[in-house]
Amino acid sequence: MPNMNSHACHVPIRTCVACRKKSAQKELLAFLLLPAGIVFDINRRLATRKYYVCRDAECVQNLDKWRKKRAKGRKA
Ligand SMILES: [Zn+2]
Repeated sequence: MPNMNSHACHVPIRTCVACRKKSAQKELLAFLLLPAGIVFDINRRLATRKYYVCRDAECVQNLDKWRKKRAKGRKA
């Protein structure tokens, strides 16, 4: 009987910043938060801190809101 707890079944899980829903990393869009704005990590080659969002028009639209709220909360 195969061991269902094997690490072979492990899928990296990330949280969408817009709706806070957890999904498999490959189901989400990775992006970076730069001073100039949001940059999608299309090539997955950038090694800086990444954030994730659903491949969903609503969540992507909410990204800008999230970014502004986040910038407000940080009085740096
Ligand atoms: Zn989402």
